[in-house]
Amino acid sequence: MKSCLVKNAKHFLQRNFIRPISSLALLPETHQMLHKMLKGFANEELKPKAALIDKGVFPKEQIKKLGELGMMAINVPEKLGGAGLNTLAYSIGMEEISRGCASCGVIVSVNNSLYLGSLMKFGTDEQKEKWVVPFTNGDKIGCFALSEPGNGSDAGAASTTAKDCADHWLLNGTKSWITNGPEAAAAIVFATTDKIKKHKGISAFIVPKPVDGLSLGKNEDKLGIKGSSTCQLVFEDCKIPKENILGGPGAGFKIAMTVLDSGRIGIASQALGIAQAALDCAVEYSLKREAFGSPICKLQSIQMKLADMETRLECARLLTWKAAMLKDTGESFSKEAAMAKLVASEAATYVSHQSMQILGGMGYVSDMPAERHYRDARITEIYEGTSEIMRIVIAQNLLKEYHF
Ligand SMILES: Cc1cc2nc3c(=O)[nH]c(=O)nc-3n(C[C@H](O)[C@H](O)[C@H](O)COP(=O)(O)OP(=O)(O)OC[C@H]3O[C@@H](n4cnc5c(N)ncnc54)[C@H](O)[C@@H]3O)c2cc1C
Repeated sequence: MKSCLVKNAKHFLQRNFIRPISSLALLPETHQMLHKMLKGFANEELKPKAALIDKGVFPKEQIKKLGELGMMAINVPEKLGGAGLNTLAYSIGMEEISRGCASCGVIVSVNNSLYLGSLMKFGTDEQKEKWVVPFTNGDKIGCFALSEPGNGSDAGAASTTAKDCADHWLLNGTKSWITNGPEAAAAIVFATTDKIKKHKGISAFIVPKPVDGLSLGKNEDKLGIKGSSTCQLVFEDCKIPKENILGGPGAGFKIAMTVLDSGRIGIASQALGIAQAALDCAVEYSLKREAFGSPICKLQSIQMKLADMETRLECARLLTWKAAMLKDTGESFSKEAAMAKLVASEAATYVSHQSMQILGGMGYVSDMPAERHYRDARITEIYEGTSEIMRIVIAQNLLKEYHF
Protein backbone atom coordinates (compact mmCIF):
# COMPACT_ATOMS: atom_id res chain seq x y z
CA MET A 1 0.00 0.00 0.00
CA LYS A 2 2.79 2.42 0.95
CA SER A 3 4.63 2.13 -2.38
CA CYS A 4 1.34 2.73 -4.16
CA LEU A 5 0.82 5.87 -2.03
CA VAL A 6 4.29 7.25 -2.85
CA LYS A 7 3.80 6.68 -6.59
CA ASN A 8 0.38 8.31 -6.59
CA ALA A 9 1.51 11.19 -4.35
CA LYS A 10 4.38 12.03 -6.74
CA HIS A 11 2.05 11.97 -9.73
CA PHE A 12 -0.44 14.34 -8.15
CA LEU A 13 2.15 16.55 -6.43
CA GLN A 14 3.73 17.48 -9.75
CA ARG A 15 0.42 18.87 -10.91
CA ASN A 16 -1.09 20.59 -7.90
CA PHE A 17 -0.32 23.44 -5.59
CA ILE A 18 -0.72 22.09 -2.07
CA ARG A 19 -1.51 24.49 0.74
CA PRO A 20 0.02 22.91 3.83
CA ILE A 21 -2.30 22.25 6.77
CA SER A 22 0.03 22.96 9.71
CA SER A 23 -1.27 20.14 11.94
CA LEU A 24 -0.47 17.58 9.22
CA ALA A 25 3.15 17.74 10.37
CA LEU A 26 1.98 16.04 13.60
CA LEU A 27 0.96 12.92 11.67
CA PRO A 28 2.98 9.82 10.75
CA GLU A 29 4.69 9.92 7.33
CA THR A 30 2.27 7.38 5.81
CA HIS A 31 -0.66 9.60 6.71
CA GLN A 32 1.00 12.72 5.30
CA MET A 33 1.62 10.78 2.09
CA LEU A 34 -1.98 9.59 1.94
CA HIS A 35 -3.13 13.17 2.43
CA LYS A 36 -0.95 14.48 -0.41
CA MET A 37 -2.03 11.71 -2.76
CA LEU A 38 -5.72 12.26 -2.07
CA LYS A 39 -5.42 16.03 -2.19
CA GLY A 40 -4.09 15.68 -5.72
CA PHE A 41 -6.75 13.13 -6.62
CA ALA A 42 -9.50 15.38 -5.24
CA ASN A 43 -8.18 18.41 -7.16
CA GLU A 44 -7.89 16.52 -10.44
CA GLU A 45 -10.65 13.95 -10.38
CA LEU A 46 -13.34 15.15 -7.98
CA LYS A 47 -13.40 18.95 -7.74
CA PRO A 48 -13.81 19.54 -11.50
CA LYS A 49 -16.76 17.07 -11.64
CA ALA A 50 -18.49 18.03 -8.37
CA ALA A 51 -20.88 20.56 -9.94
CA LEU A 52 -22.03 17.98 -12.52
CA ILE A 53 -22.39 15.28 -9.84
CA ASP A 54 -24.46 17.80 -7.85
CA LYS A 55 -27.06 17.71 -10.66
CA GLY A 56 -27.95 14.24 -9.37
CA VAL A 57 -25.46 12.16 -11.36
CA PHE A 58 -24.23 9.13 -9.42
CA PRO A 59 -20.37 9.29 -9.55
CA LYS A 60 -19.80 5.72 -10.73
CA GLU A 61 -16.47 6.42 -12.44
CA GLN A 62 -15.09 8.33 -9.44
CA ILE A 63 -16.13 5.56 -7.02
CA LYS A 64 -14.39 2.99 -9.22
CA LYS A 65 -11.18 5.08 -9.18
CA LEU A 66 -11.44 5.52 -5.41
CA GLY A 67 -11.80 1.74 -5.17
CA GLU A 68 -8.59 1.33 -7.16
CA LEU A 69 -6.84 3.64 -4.66
CA GLY A 70 -8.06 1.46 -1.77
CA MET A 71 -10.47 4.13 -0.49
CA MET A 72 -13.62 1.97 -0.62
CA ALA A 73 -12.22 -0.37 2.06
CA ILE A 74 -9.68 1.72 3.96
CA ASN A 75 -9.79 -0.23 7.24
CA VAL A 76 -10.25 -3.70 5.72
CA PRO A 77 -7.08 -5.84 5.96
CA GLU A 78 -5.11 -6.28 2.73
CA LYS A 79 -5.74 -10.05 2.75
CA LEU A 80 -9.44 -9.31 2.27
CA GLY A 81 -8.80 -6.78 -0.49
CA GLY A 82 -8.72 -3.57 1.57
CA ALA A 83 -6.05 -0.91 2.12
CA GLY A 84 -5.25 -2.17 5.65
CA LEU A 85 -5.00 1.38 7.04
CA ASN A 86 -6.28 2.71 10.36
CA THR A 87 -9.08 5.05 11.43
CA LEU A 88 -6.87 8.14 11.30
CA ALA A 89 -6.14 7.32 7.65
CA TYR A 90 -9.88 6.90 7.10
CA SER A 91 -10.51 10.36 8.55
CA ILE A 92 -7.82 11.94 6.37
CA GLY A 93 -9.14 10.15 3.30
CA MET A 94 -12.74 11.13 4.01
CA GLU A 95 -11.79 14.80 4.48
CA GLU A 96 -9.95 15.04 1.18
CA ILE A 97 -12.56 13.11 -0.81
CA SER A 98 -15.33 15.29 0.65
CA ARG A 99 -13.34 18.46 -0.01
CA GLY A 100 -13.39 17.44 -3.67
CA CYS A 101 -16.97 16.17 -3.72
CA ALA A 102 -19.24 15.78 -0.70
CA SER A 103 -21.53 13.33 -2.54
CA CYS A 104 -18.57 11.00 -3.14
CA GLY A 105 -17.72 11.47 0.55
CA VAL A 106 -20.98 10.01 1.82
CA ILE A 107 -20.96 7.12 -0.67
CA VAL A 108 -17.43 6.21 0.49
CA SER A 109 -18.36 6.68 4.15
CA VAL A 110 -21.42 4.41 4.05
CA ASN A 111 -19.51 1.64 2.28
CA ASN A 112 -16.54 1.89 4.66
CA SER A 113 -17.93 2.52 8.10
CA LEU A 114 -21.51 1.29 8.00
CA TYR A 115 -21.59 -1.59 5.50
CA LEU A 116 -18.04 -3.02 5.72
CA GLY A 117 -17.67 -1.84 9.33
CA SER A 118 -20.66 -4.02 10.40
CA LEU A 119 -19.28 -7.07 8.61
CA MET A 120 -15.68 -6.65 9.75
CA LYS A 121 -16.68 -6.30 13.40
CA PHE A 122 -19.51 -8.83 13.62
CA GLY A 123 -19.26 -11.12 10.56
CA THR A 124 -18.02 -14.70 10.48
CA ASP A 125 -15.03 -15.63 8.28
CA GLU A 126 -17.43 -17.06 5.66
CA GLN A 127 -19.54 -13.89 5.70
CA LYS A 128 -16.42 -11.71 5.29
CA GLU A 129 -15.22 -13.78 2.34
CA LYS A 130 -18.60 -13.52 0.61
CA TRP A 131 -19.79 -10.01 1.57
CA VAL A 132 -16.59 -8.02 2.17
CA VAL A 133 -14.11 -9.04 -0.54
CA PRO A 134 -16.29 -8.07 -3.59
CA PHE A 135 -17.09 -4.70 -1.97
CA THR A 136 -13.54 -3.43 -1.62
CA ASN A 137 -12.54 -2.21 -5.10
CA GLY A 138 -15.41 0.08 -6.09
CA ASP A 139 -17.15 -2.48 -8.34
CA LYS A 140 -19.84 -3.16 -5.75
CA ILE A 141 -21.03 -0.95 -2.90
CA GLY A 142 -23.13 -1.69 0.17
CA CYS A 143 -25.73 0.18 2.21
CA PHE A 144 -26.99 0.24 5.81
CA ALA A 145 -30.71 0.21 6.52
CA LEU A 146 -31.62 1.21 10.07
CA SER A 147 -34.01 4.18 9.79
CA GLU A 148 -37.72 3.77 9.06
CA PRO A 149 -40.55 6.16 8.23
CA GLY A 150 -41.66 5.95 11.89
CA ASN A 151 -38.28 6.06 13.63
CA GLY A 152 -34.90 7.69 13.10
CA SER A 153 -33.27 8.93 16.31
CA ASP A 154 -35.26 6.30 18.27
CA ALA A 155 -33.57 3.42 16.43
CA GLY A 156 -34.78 0.82 18.94
CA ALA A 157 -38.38 1.30 17.80
CA ALA A 158 -37.89 -0.61 14.50
CA SER A 159 -41.16 -1.99 13.09
CA THR A 160 -39.66 -3.99 10.21
CA THR A 161 -39.91 -7.66 11.15
CA ALA A 162 -37.92 -10.80 10.36
CA LYS A 163 -39.83 -14.04 10.95
CA ASP A 164 -37.92 -17.25 11.64
CA CYS A 165 -39.38 -19.69 9.07
CA ALA A 166 -37.21 -22.71 9.90
CA ASP A 167 -35.13 -22.73 6.70
CA HIS A 168 -35.16 -18.97 5.97
CA TRP A 169 -35.96 -15.51 7.41
CA LEU A 170 -39.00 -13.61 6.09
CA LEU A 171 -38.60 -9.81 6.08
CA ASN A 172 -41.51 -7.35 6.00
CA GLY A 173 -41.49 -3.58 6.45
CA THR A 174 -40.03 -0.34 5.06
CA LYS A 175 -36.61 1.22 5.63
CA SER A 176 -36.21 4.89 4.74
CA TRP A 177 -33.45 7.36 3.84
CA ILE A 178 -31.10 4.63 2.67
CA THR A 179 -27.88 6.09 1.21
CA ASN A 180 -26.56 4.01 -1.74
CA GLY A 181 -29.96 2.22 -1.70
CA PRO A 182 -30.47 2.14 -5.50
CA GLU A 183 -26.87 1.17 -6.41
CA ALA A 184 -26.00 -1.17 -3.52
CA ALA A 185 -25.38 -4.85 -4.24
CA ALA A 186 -26.08 -5.71 -0.58
CA ALA A 187 -27.61 -4.14 2.50
CA ILE A 188 -27.22 -4.55 6.24
CA VAL A 189 -30.86 -4.49 7.34
CA PHE A 190 -32.16 -4.19 10.90
CA ALA A 191 -35.41 -5.95 11.77
CA THR A 192 -37.25 -7.12 14.87
CA THR A 193 -37.07 -10.85 15.51
CA ASP A 194 -38.62 -10.66 18.99
CA LYS A 195 -40.96 -7.70 19.61
CA ILE A 196 -41.34 -8.40 23.35
CA LYS A 197 -37.63 -7.80 23.92
CA LYS A 198 -37.87 -4.32 22.34
CA HIS A 199 -34.39 -3.08 21.24
CA LYS A 200 -32.84 -6.36 22.44
CA GLY A 201 -35.09 -8.16 19.98
CA ILE A 202 -33.62 -6.40 16.93
CA SER A 203 -31.35 -8.44 14.63
CA ALA A 204 -29.18 -7.51 11.66
CA PHE A 205 -29.32 -9.28 8.30
CA ILE A 206 -27.16 -9.32 5.19
CA VAL A 207 -29.58 -8.83 2.33
CA PRO A 208 -28.39 -9.41 -1.27
CA LYS A 209 -29.65 -6.96 -3.91
CA PRO A 210 -31.60 -7.44 -6.06
CA VAL A 211 -33.71 -10.11 -4.35
CA ASP A 212 -37.36 -11.17 -4.66
CA GLY A 213 -39.60 -9.32 -2.20
CA LEU A 214 -37.40 -6.19 -2.03
CA SER A 215 -38.39 -3.11 -4.03
CA LEU A 216 -36.99 0.43 -4.07
CA GLY A 217 -38.91 3.61 -3.27
CA LYS A 218 -38.31 6.86 -5.13
CA ASN A 219 -34.94 8.59 -5.03
CA GLU A 220 -35.30 11.46 -2.53
CA ASP A 221 -34.92 15.01 -3.91
CA LYS A 222 -32.43 16.42 -1.40
CA LEU A 223 -31.05 19.88 -0.55
CA GLY A 224 -27.42 18.77 -0.96
CA ILE A 225 -25.17 15.73 -1.57
CA LYS A 226 -27.32 15.28 -4.66
CA GLY A 227 -24.98 12.84 -6.41
CA SER A 228 -25.56 10.32 -3.63
CA SER A 229 -28.85 8.46 -3.92
CA THR A 230 -31.23 8.04 -1.00
CA CYS A 231 -34.33 5.85 -1.19
CA GLN A 232 -36.69 3.57 0.71
CA LEU A 233 -36.21 -0.21 0.77
CA VAL A 234 -39.59 -1.95 0.85
CA PHE A 235 -39.69 -5.57 2.06
CA GLU A 236 -42.74 -7.69 1.24
CA ASP A 237 -42.31 -11.36 2.18
CA CYS A 238 -38.62 -11.15 1.30
CA LYS A 239 -36.88 -14.51 1.90
CA ILE A 240 -33.34 -14.35 3.26
CA PRO A 241 -31.10 -17.40 3.80
CA LYS A 242 -30.76 -18.55 7.42
CA GLU A 243 -27.00 -17.96 7.46
CA ASN A 244 -27.40 -14.26 6.57
CA ILE A 245 -28.05 -13.18 10.15
CA LEU A 246 -25.18 -11.03 11.44
CA GLY A 247 -23.90 -11.48 15.00
CA GLY A 248 -26.78 -13.77 16.03
CA PRO A 249 -30.43 -13.10 17.01
CA GLY A 250 -30.89 -9.96 19.13
CA ALA A 251 -27.45 -8.47 18.34
CA GLY A 252 -28.83 -5.85 15.92
CA PHE A 253 -29.12 -2.85 18.23
CA LYS A 254 -25.61 -3.36 19.59
CA ILE A 255 -24.26 -3.68 16.03
CA ALA A 256 -26.02 -0.47 14.95
CA MET A 257 -24.80 1.56 17.94
CA THR A 258 -21.22 0.25 17.67
CA VAL A 259 -20.99 0.89 13.95
CA LEU A 260 -22.55 4.36 14.22
CA ASP A 261 -19.93 5.37 16.81
CA SER A 262 -17.24 4.73 14.19
CA GLY A 263 -19.38 6.16 11.39
CA ARG A 264 -19.51 9.50 13.21
CA ILE A 265 -15.75 9.88 12.74
CA GLY A 266 -16.38 9.48 9.00
CA ILE A 267 -19.17 12.08 8.94
CA ALA A 268 -17.10 14.48 11.07
CA SER A 269 -14.35 14.08 8.45
CA GLN A 270 -16.82 14.66 5.63
CA ALA A 271 -17.83 17.90 7.39
CA LEU A 272 -14.15 18.93 7.64
CA GLY A 273 -13.74 18.44 3.90
CA ILE A 274 -16.83 20.53 3.08
CA ALA A 275 -15.67 23.27 5.48
CA GLN A 276 -12.15 23.27 3.99
CA ALA A 277 -13.57 23.57 0.47
CA ALA A 278 -15.76 26.49 1.58
CA LEU A 279 -12.80 28.21 3.27
CA ASP A 280 -10.54 27.72 0.22
CA CYS A 281 -13.24 29.19 -1.99
CA ALA A 282 -13.66 32.24 0.30
CA VAL A 283 -9.92 32.93 0.58
CA GLU A 284 -9.29 32.59 -3.15
CA TYR A 285 -12.21 34.93 -3.92
CA SER A 286 -11.17 37.49 -1.30
CA LEU A 287 -7.67 37.67 -2.82
CA LYS A 288 -9.05 38.51 -6.26
CA ARG A 289 -12.20 40.50 -5.62
CA GLU A 290 -11.62 44.23 -5.29
CA ALA A 291 -13.85 46.73 -3.47
CA PHE A 292 -13.04 50.37 -2.74
CA GLY A 293 -9.73 50.06 -4.59
CA SER A 294 -8.16 46.96 -3.02
CA PRO A 295 -8.73 43.20 -2.57
CA ILE A 296 -11.46 42.50 -0.01
CA CYS A 297 -9.06 40.27 1.96
CA LYS A 298 -7.47 43.52 3.17
CA LEU A 299 -10.72 44.51 4.90
CA GLN A 300 -10.62 43.67 8.58
CA SER A 301 -14.25 42.54 8.60
CA ILE A 302 -13.32 39.88 6.01
CA GLN A 303 -10.19 38.95 7.95
CA MET A 304 -12.26 38.46 11.15
CA LYS A 305 -14.49 36.03 9.28
CA LEU A 306 -11.53 34.14 7.79
CA ALA A 307 -9.89 33.88 11.21
CA ASP A 308 -13.04 32.44 12.82
CA MET A 309 -13.54 30.02 9.92
CA GLU A 310 -9.97 28.70 10.09
CA THR A 311 -10.06 28.43 13.91
CA ARG A 312 -13.35 26.51 14.05
CA LEU A 313 -12.19 24.19 11.29
CA GLU A 314 -8.86 23.45 12.95
CA CYS A 315 -10.53 22.81 16.36
CA ALA A 316 -12.91 20.38 14.68
CA ARG A 317 -10.07 18.66 12.81
CA LEU A 318 -8.03 18.07 15.95
CA LEU A 319 -11.07 16.72 17.80
CA THR A 320 -11.83 14.38 14.89
CA TRP A 321 -8.24 13.12 14.74
CA LYS A 322 -8.32 12.59 18.50
CA ALA A 323 -11.45 10.41 18.21
CA ALA A 324 -9.78 8.44 15.39
CA MET A 325 -6.57 7.97 17.38
CA LEU A 326 -8.49 6.78 20.45
CA LYS A 327 -10.25 4.19 18.31
CA ASP A 328 -6.93 3.11 16.79
CA THR A 329 -5.37 2.61 20.22
CA GLY A 330 -8.34 0.55 21.43
CA GLU A 331 -9.58 3.20 23.90
CA SER A 332 -13.24 4.09 24.31
CA PHE A 333 -14.11 6.77 21.75
CA SER A 334 -17.91 7.05 21.78
CA LYS A 335 -17.95 10.49 23.50
CA GLU A 336 -15.11 11.86 21.36
CA ALA A 337 -16.70 10.62 18.12
CA ALA A 338 -19.96 12.37 19.07
CA MET A 339 -18.04 15.55 20.04
CA ALA A 340 -16.14 15.42 16.73
CA LYS A 341 -19.33 15.02 14.69
CA LEU A 342 -21.12 17.76 16.62
CA VAL A 343 -18.28 20.29 16.34
CA ALA A 344 -17.24 19.44 12.77
CA SER A 345 -20.80 19.50 11.40
CA GLU A 346 -21.55 22.84 13.09
CA ALA A 347 -18.19 24.17 11.82
CA ALA A 348 -19.10 23.09 8.28
CA THR A 349 -22.44 24.89 8.49
CA TYR A 350 -20.78 28.02 9.95
CA VAL A 351 -17.83 28.11 7.54
CA SER A 352 -19.96 27.53 4.44
CA HIS A 353 -22.40 30.23 5.61
CA GLN A 354 -19.56 32.74 6.03
CA SER A 355 -17.99 31.66 2.74
CA MET A 356 -21.21 32.53 0.92
CA GLN A 357 -21.24 35.92 2.69
CA ILE A 358 -17.65 36.67 1.62
CA LEU A 359 -18.56 35.95 -2.00
CA GLY A 360 -21.55 38.32 -1.82
CA GLY A 361 -23.84 37.81 -4.83
CA MET A 362 -21.45 35.32 -6.36
CA GLY A 363 -21.96 33.15 -3.26
CA TYR A 364 -25.62 32.74 -4.12
CA VAL A 365 -25.30 31.42 -7.67
CA SER A 366 -24.07 28.10 -8.98
CA ASP A 367 -21.25 29.66 -11.08
CA MET A 368 -19.23 29.37 -7.86
CA PRO A 369 -19.15 26.32 -5.56
CA ALA A 370 -19.95 28.28 -2.34
CA GLU A 371 -23.72 27.65 -2.58
CA ARG A 372 -23.09 23.91 -3.05
CA HIS A 373 -20.86 23.75 0.01
CA TYR A 374 -23.60 25.56 1.97
CA ARG A 375 -26.20 22.99 0.86
CA ASP A 376 -23.87 20.00 1.36
CA ALA A 377 -22.82 21.04 4.86
CA ARG A 378 -26.30 20.92 6.36
CA ILE A 379 -26.81 17.15 6.22
CA THR A 380 -23.78 16.49 8.43
CA GLU A 381 -25.82 17.88 11.36
CA ILE A 382 -28.59 15.33 10.68
CA TYR A 383 -27.49 11.88 9.53
CA GLU A 384 -25.79 9.21 11.68
CA GLY A 385 -27.32 11.00 14.69
CA THR A 386 -28.57 14.59 14.84
CA SER A 387 -26.72 17.30 16.79
CA GLU A 388 -29.32 16.90 19.57
CA ILE A 389 -28.57 13.17 19.81
CA MET A 390 -24.80 13.91 19.77
CA ARG A 391 -25.27 16.18 22.80
CA ILE A 392 -27.18 13.39 24.58
CA VAL A 393 -24.39 10.87 23.84
CA ILE A 394 -21.75 13.33 25.08
CA ALA A 395 -23.66 14.17 28.27
CA GLN A 396 -24.41 10.51 29.06
CA ASN A 397 -20.73 9.58 28.67
CA LEU A 398 -19.65 12.59 30.70
CA LEU A 399 -21.99 11.69 33.57
CA LYS A 400 -20.72 8.10 33.50
CA GLU A 401 -17.18 9.45 33.95
CA TYR A 402 -18.49 11.09 37.17
CA HIS A 403 -19.99 7.68 38.19
CA PHE A 404 -23.55 9.06 37.89
C1 LIG B 1 -29.71 12.33 3.18
C2 LIG B 1 -29.94 11.33 4.28
C3 LIG B 1 -29.25 10.12 4.25
C4 LIG B 1 -29.47 9.17 5.24
N1 LIG B 1 -28.86 7.95 5.15
C5 LIG B 1 -29.23 6.95 6.00
C6 LIG B 1 -28.76 5.60 5.81
O1 LIG B 1 -27.97 5.31 4.91
N2 LIG B 1 -29.22 4.63 6.65
C7 LIG B 1 -30.10 4.90 7.66
O2 LIG B 1 -30.46 3.98 8.38
N3 LIG B 1 -30.55 6.17 7.86
C8 LIG B 1 -30.15 7.20 7.07
N4 LIG B 1 -30.63 8.48 7.25
C9 LIG B 1 -31.55 8.73 8.36
C10 LIG B 1 -30.94 9.64 9.42
O3 LIG B 1 -29.97 8.93 10.15
C11 LIG B 1 -32.09 10.18 10.28
O4 LIG B 1 -32.77 11.12 9.47
C12 LIG B 1 -31.61 10.83 11.55
O5 LIG B 1 -31.10 9.87 12.42
C13 LIG B 1 -32.75 11.58 12.25
O6 LIG B 1 -33.90 10.78 12.34
P1 LIG B 1 -35.34 11.38 11.86
O7 LIG B 1 -35.14 11.98 10.52
O8 LIG B 1 -36.33 10.30 12.00
O9 LIG B 1 -35.62 12.54 12.88
P2 LIG B 1 -36.37 12.37 14.28
O10 LIG B 1 -35.75 11.28 15.06
O11 LIG B 1 -37.83 12.33 14.04
O12 LIG B 1 -35.99 13.76 14.96
C14 LIG B 1 -36.68 14.98 14.67
C15 LIG B 1 -36.08 16.07 15.59
O13 LIG B 1 -36.29 15.70 16.97
C16 LIG B 1 -35.03 15.66 17.64
N5 LIG B 1 -35.01 14.59 18.62
C17 LIG B 1 -35.38 13.30 18.47
N6 LIG B 1 -35.19 12.60 19.60
C18 LIG B 1 -34.68 13.48 20.51
C19 LIG B 1 -34.28 13.38 21.87
N7 LIG B 1 -34.36 12.21 22.55
N8 LIG B 1 -33.82 14.50 22.49
C20 LIG B 1 -33.72 15.68 21.81
N9 LIG B 1 -34.09 15.83 20.52
C21 LIG B 1 -34.56 14.76 19.87
C22 LIG B 1 -34.00 15.41 16.53
O14 LIG B 1 -32.70 15.84 16.92
C23 LIG B 1 -34.58 16.23 15.39
O15 LIG B 1 -34.23 17.59 15.56
C24 LIG B 1 -30.37 9.44 6.30
C25 LIG B 1 -31.03 10.69 6.33
C26 LIG B 1 -30.84 11.61 5.33
C27 LIG B 1 -31.60 12.91 5.39
